[in-house]
Amino acid sequence: MIWNLGSINIDKFYGVTHHPAGGETLAAHSFSEGLGGKGANMSVAVARAAAPVSHIGAIGREGRWTRDRLLEYGVDTPHIHEIDVPTGHANIVVDAEGENTIVLFQGANVRLTESMIGAALSEASAGDILLMQNETNGQEYASHTAQKLGLRVAYAAAPFDADAVARLVDRIDIMVLNAIEAAQLEEATGAPLLALGIRDVVVTLGADGCKWISDQGERAFEAYPAQPVDTTGAGDTFTGYLLAGLDRGLGMEVSIDLALKAGTLMVMRHGTADVIPDLKEIQDHFG
Ligand code: ADP
Repeated sequence: MIWNLGSINIDKFYGVTHHPAGGETLAAHSFSEGLGGKGANMSVAVARAAAPVSHIGAIGREGRWTRDRLLEYGVDTPHIHEIDVPTGHANIVVDAEGENTIVLFQGANVRLTESMIGAALSEASAGDILLMQNETNGQEYASHTAQKLGLRVAYAAAPFDADAVARLVDRIDIMVLNAIEAAQLEEATGAPLLALGIRDVVVTLGADGCKWISDQGERAFEAYPAQPVDTTGAGDTFTGYLLAGLDRGLGMEVSIDLALKAGTLMVMRHGTADVIPDLKEIQDHFG
C-alpha cells in the first residue's frame, strides 16, 4: 500500500491573446479546469499502475469534485480532509504563443495537521510506502512517524528545496528527482548524490531516460523513443509507476522499465492527471 502525503490542486487555464501588463485588465477567450498538483498526479499514476494508494491531503469545500475525481480513478480518499481553507489552485495564463505564467495558491495543501497525518499512518503496515513531495506541510512529522512504523519513505524532491531535503535526508529510503533537481542538490551539498547515504536515488533525464544510484553504483536506463507534444506530468507519472512497481514487489529494474514506458506515453499526450496511462495501455503500446 502506498500512503501519499500530497498536494491536490485545481488547475485553472485561461487563454489570452497576450499577457497583461501591470494595471491592464484583459478578458480571457477561453477557460478550463482540471485536476492537478504533483501529489494528485502521483496518486493517479500509482492507481493506474495497479497498486493500492491512499491519498493524505486537504481541500476546501469548493474542491470536493477533486476528491470525487481521485476516487473515480481508484485512489482511496478517506484521508482527504475538507477544511475551511480554499483548495490549492494554480491560475495558468497561456498566450497565443503557448507561453504561460502561473500564480499558485497553496491553500489547504499546507494546512494539514499532525493528527490528520497520524490517523492515516496508524492504518499503515510495516513495509508499506510513504510517498511525499514538497507541496504540502507535515513532511517531517510524516517521515518520522513512518520510519517508526517500519514504512519505506519515498521522496520526490519537487519543487526542490535544499533545506527540506537536508531535514528529511536521514529518513528517506528512495528519492526520485529530475536532472535539474539533482544538479541543485549536488550544488547545495557540495557532494555527489551517492554521498547522501540514501539507499536508492533515481534521477529522471527526460529524453535520455534515467539513472539509478545505489550502493551497487550507478546504472543508466535509456528512454523509449517518442515525439513529445506535452511533457507536463511525465515526471509525476514516472514516480507513481516506479513506486507502484516496488510496492507490488517487482524489482527495481522492472519497476524502472514500467516507469520509463509510462513517462514516454505521457509525453505523447496533452494533459496531466486525466490522461495518465494505465497498465493495459502500456501493454498495448509496447507489447
Ligand atoms: P520531469 O517532468 O520531472 O522534469 P523528465 O523530463 O526527466 O521529468 O521525464 C520523466 C520521464 O518521462 C523520463 O524518465 C522518460 O521516461 C519520460 N520522458 C520525458 N521526456 C521524454 C522524451 N522526450 N522522450 C521519451 N521519454 C521522455
